[in-house]
Amino acid sequence: MEEFHLGMDDIDSPRGGCTTHFASLLAEDLTNLGVTWLDYPNLIRLNPNIPYRTRGNGAVVLRFRAPPDVGNTVLENVEQAIEKYVEHDYPNTNPGVVLVRGRPPSEMSKLSTLAEWRVLAIDVVRRFLSRHHIAHISRGNGRGIVGATAAVGNRLLDDCTFEFIAYRSLEDTAHERGVDAESVYEMNRRMKGKTFSNIDPQTGSVLIQPHGPDPVIYGIRGDSPSDLVEAASLVRCHQTIERWTIFRTNQGTGEHLRHLVRISDLRPYMAAVVRGRVERRGIMTEGGHLIFTISDDAGTIDCAVYEPTGEFREVAASLIPGDIVEVHAGVRPASRTHGMTLNVEGLNVVALVENVILSNPLCPQCGKRMKSAGREKGFKCTKCGYRDASLEKVREVVPRHIHPRLYLPPPRAQRHLTRPYERLGVRNVLENTVPTLAWLSSHGKT
Ligand code: ATP
Repeated sequence: MEEFHLGMDDIDSPRGGCTTHFASLLAEDLTNLGVTWLDYPNLIRLNPNIPYRTRGNGAVVLRFRAPPDVGNTVLENVEQAIEKYVEHDYPNTNPGVVLVRGRPPSEMSKLSTLAEWRVLAIDVVRRFLSRHHIAHISRGNGRGIVGATAAVGNRLLDDCTFEFIAYRSLEDTAHERGVDAESVYEMNRRMKGKTFSNIDPQTGSVLIQPHGPDPVIYGIRGDSPSDLVEAASLVRCHQTIERWTIFRTNQGTGEHLRHLVRISDLRPYMAAVVRGRVERRGIMTEGGHLIFTISDDAGTIDCAVYEPTGEFREVAASLIPGDIVEVHAGVRPASRTHGMTLNVEGLNVVALVENVILSNPLCPQCGKRMKSAGREKGFKCTKCGYRDASLEKVREVVPRHIHPRLYLPPPRAQRHLTRPYERLGVRNVLENTVPTLAWLSSHGKT
């Protein structure tokens, strides 16, 4: 038996299919061929700021042991399966598949880390694959091999979560999913602390179901696969669940935000943490976005907190010049109208300055706020005429409504990779990745 790592990305079908769905079908075929699974399928989210992503920039890896003869035909079979899935031509999809025989080279994990926060050139990946003689399939513009390669390199060693994804058939993707919100609320209550990002607390909206015409009916996230199976048994929906799969993932780990970057080193589409001093208070634009400015010893940059992040904008609006913050961000390139901007996806308030306002004193005689009587002449009262040259401005400390800690947008506006409040300080390290319970259904079974 030989060890195989099969990475894949950018496999979309005209009927709305997606890479995880394709991987689920493929996993079933491989199970039928008798492979031994080394891990749950890994769903690896990559840099969320990549402009060419369709949805959440996810790639999938299947890790298994198989007799060499199965290994010899895997890639050929996958190629045929892709052609069937994407229906022969590749208009908006650029499938990439890589097959590593044996242990993935250590250099691959470096590529993987890079792909989580930078833009990787296809050529860099191509050179890597040819240097290591790694067999691969690359269609369309070839970009899919970036995600496929990066995904194989991420063994989810530091932390991981799981997602139970229920799928409908590709024939059903034009219709309503009919996920019963009440059942999701109930599941959320019963599975509190064991699942995350089910419901948006402010709006009450159900977050487990996507809205596009893809085969995913819902996805439930948590730290343990058995909890997810229980959670899924509590959710009702109108559409038939054609299949389900449990993925081990880097979702909810905050893995993309491990790099503290100076403003002068920022590049378009990076995912970065930028530490700076607030220079300019937030200004609300017509569209409801809040823009504030920070600087470090090397530069100054605008930070944008967008309208869909709702009340998160109030945190940014409370910042005043002098505050020290770490901005968790995606870098938006400069455009004709704006300079390079940080799209804020989290705010770690490091230190707050005192908010002091200086105001004119109240008249000691009648209590009305006084006016300046002129330079170094103290203050006068316009109501009762009282004057006092010795009076000075009054120093008032205004209480701050934010504290030094991490603030996140509401779950409805978070990235797949965002480490949610529920997971702060949590590390899920598996000693053994071999699945211990059923993680894949086949047609009709739930
Ligand atoms: P799906 O769920 O259907 O896979 P998606 O949101 O994951 O949709 P893709 O259609 O896979 O998006 O498109 C993302 C593309 O970007 C892929 O071709 C992937 O290889 C590529 N990509 C991912 N990360 C990077 C990166 N860091 N640098 C350059 N290219 C990347």
